[in-house]
Amino acid sequence: VIRAVIFDVGYTLIDEKRQWAEWARELGVSSEQFMETLVSVIAERKHHRTVFARLRPNFDLNAALARRDQQESGIWTEEDLYEDARPALARLRAAGLQVALAGNQPPTAKRALERMNLPVDWIANSSELGFEKPAPEFFAKIAARAGSPAQQIAYVGDRLDNHVLPAQAAGMRGVFLVRGPWGKTHARWPEAAEANQIVSGLEEMERDELWPPYSPT
Ligand SMILES: [Mg+2]
Repeated sequence: VIRAVIFDVGYTLIDEKRQWAEWARELGVSSEQFMETLVSVIAERKHHRTVFARLRPNFDLNAALARRDQQESGIWTEEDLYEDARPALARLRAAGLQVALAGNQPPTAKRALERMNLPVDWIANSSELGFEKPAPEFFAKIAARAGSPAQQIAYVGDRLDNHVLPAQAAGMRGVFLVRGPWGKTHARWPEAAEANQIVSGLEEMERDELWPPYSPT
């Protein structure tokens, strides 16, 4: 029985296209060129930071990240939420599940999520946990926070390498959400067959027999 559902954030609940378009402008390239390069980098199984090095070899990414973090620029707002995000969180919570968010993000991202008043029990991020996905310690820490054995936790994310497979290795149920540049690229990887569950939208989650029955009021 699943008692807690923990969500990744980027491309799981939040559509990051606006943020990536801002980065494209900062690099002086078109959004299309930026996204094409990002998809190539993902397909090559390289870190997304490679995109910056590839498009602007001398770009000081750390300085740009620090600047943006300080200005809280490019920070997520309600408009960046996928349409199915808030209803899915609310529905799962109404079904009696603990619902939480845990991603690899700086503290500003957590504050932005808190401002949205999402129907979740808690929000954690890598900067406060001291570990980033896919580290096993990240999943151990969020299981401890959920207060349930890993077997009673589902982790939902758009990446096989960072979310689904390491969550499953930690004993959780991995739910692979196929959307965004990672989801769509990873869906073609052979490892996609190892995912416990594959969905293309969050509304599909209530249809799975492993979730508690949901009766609309
Ligand atoms: Mg993500």
